[in-house]
Amino acid sequence: FSIDKIFENLANMLTEQTKIKGLNLIFYSNDVPPWLKGDITRIQQALMNYLSNAIKFSAHGNIEVNAKVLETKASKFFIEFSVSDQGCGISQEKLNHIFKAFQQEDTSTTRKFGGSGLGLTITKQLAKLMNGHVGVESKLGEGSKFWFTVWLKQGEENVSSDNTINELHNEQKLLDSYQGANILVVEDNEINAEVAQLLLASVGLKVEIAKNGQQAVEKVNKKVFDLVLMDIQMPVMDGLQATVQIRLNYDKVSLPILAMSASAFNEDRQACIDVGMNDFVAKPVSPNNLFSKLLKWLPSKQYSNSTVLIDSNHLKNKKDAAIHKQLQSITLLHVETGLKNCAGNLQNYLALLTKFDEMQKGSFAQFKRQLASSLFEEAKLSIHALKGASGNLGLDSIYKEIQLLENNLAIDPQNNNEELIARLACDLQRFSQALNELELSDLAQAKTQHNTINIDKALEKLSALLSIDDAKANEYFDTIADELSNTYGAKVKEIKRHIDNFDYLLALEVIARTKHTLF
Ligand code: ADP
Repeated sequence: FSIDKIFENLANMLTEQTKIKGLNLIFYSNDVPPWLKGDITRIQQALMNYLSNAIKFSAHGNIEVNAKVLETKASKFFIEFSVSDQGCGISQEKLNHIFKAFQQEDTSTTRKFGGSGLGLTITKQLAKLMNGHVGVESKLGEGSKFWFTVWLKQGEENVSSDNTINELHNEQKLLDSYQGANILVVEDNEINAEVAQLLLASVGLKVEIAKNGQQAVEKVNKKVFDLVLMDIQMPVMDGLQATVQIRLNYDKVSLPILAMSASAFNEDRQACIDVGMNDFVAKPVSPNNLFSKLLKWLPSKQYSNSTVLIDSNHLKNKKDAAIHKQLQSITLLHVETGLKNCAGNLQNYLALLTKFDEMQKGSFAQFKRQLASSLFEEAKLSIHALKGASGNLGLDSIYKEIQLLENNLAIDPQNNNEELIARLACDLQRFSQALNELELSDLAQAKTQHNTINIDKALEKLSALLSIDDAKANEYFDTIADELSNTYGAKVKEIKRHIDNFDYLLALEVIARTKHTLF
């Protein structure tokens, strides 16, 4: 990977946030070789954790990201990545244990800024997995510098990696040149499948879903697809087996297969390449990453672009604005991330959050049972599905907790992770409750809106019939009388009397007056 690519990705993800807060985000790659061999996902994630804190805890000034070589051995480099800010800083006594799980500077920061107290622990873990360390220097009121080190090998220039395309450019390119391409999404998790479908549809691609590897094999043998996005862990037939089957009939050029996996482990990614997949898209899927991988692998040809584009500008709608505001009150939710992953469609986002809530109840209980019976592999699978979905939906703390738990279980299955599991249980519960409360008020609101709209329409139609002296008005009135009484009460009797007497003009007058006082 190229170091510039990491910086570019981070800049793409964070520029908006820093702009809103009036912060300057600056990247320096110093003497670091431009091409390195290592785990770009882990490095990016570690930096992202530092950066989101730096942004969160700064009100002004610069945020500097530095990469520099500390040591060179053969063709290996010991590199330090650091993030410095001019924010609120951290007191000396807190600095000593800041990298331990669930440490937050003080409890008031949680209330003010949210957060899980896990970002730093995850970064420490990631650095350890890359044979490095973490550390921090900070002065209260002056700012902080967080760093981590990693050993990386010298890399080679990868000409096919497209460093310069930015996010908008990617979307536009897909719309211009690939609209109408047929994509098969193979994914057992309904939420992840829907998120993928929304994203792909937003750039004009046609999507079909297969729920497991076997369905995927059947589908590609029946219909021509241009590309397959393949989940790895699935029931019936997993993504690796399915790829082996598909590769019996299609090679990498005629049908590209991209793995979608939430695994942070290099070995898992290697397994995908080994069975004949073309590339790997990390979950939770970031739109820009997915789009750039599609651009890289979708065959260049003439597509019949007869797809209907999903309108992503749904915020115009008043009701959406109300839901948006309510969702933002759920502190566990990073609405912008989740919404972005649902191509800006709030109704879909809300539906998926509800689905996640239903799903997590079963999966989490199952996870705990399996753990109690020392069924570690099964337990990991149960929690894995929740990880991808929570990441997609912007449930950041829950995502981080599951990620940490999954890594802990991989490193040491005997670790009982008591505190972490308790924390996760608590967050899932909090989310569930917040969502249910929100759902109630939202449903209530939707219901009244529905009624008002219906009655409004019904009255309009009745008035139209009355004004043209159409006797169908009597019959029509009877069909809507009940619903009208709910809203208009006694007035309805008066209207009924006039209509029964065929005094349509009088009926119209009452309706006009009633409407006036009610709306
Ligand atoms: P969280 O999800 O709460 O941000 P982290 O593990 O990332 O969890 O951070 C733990 C705590 O460390 C934060 O709550 C905050 O008190 C402190 N902290 C981390 N980074 C910074 C920073 N750049 N400036 C000030 N305080 C920080």
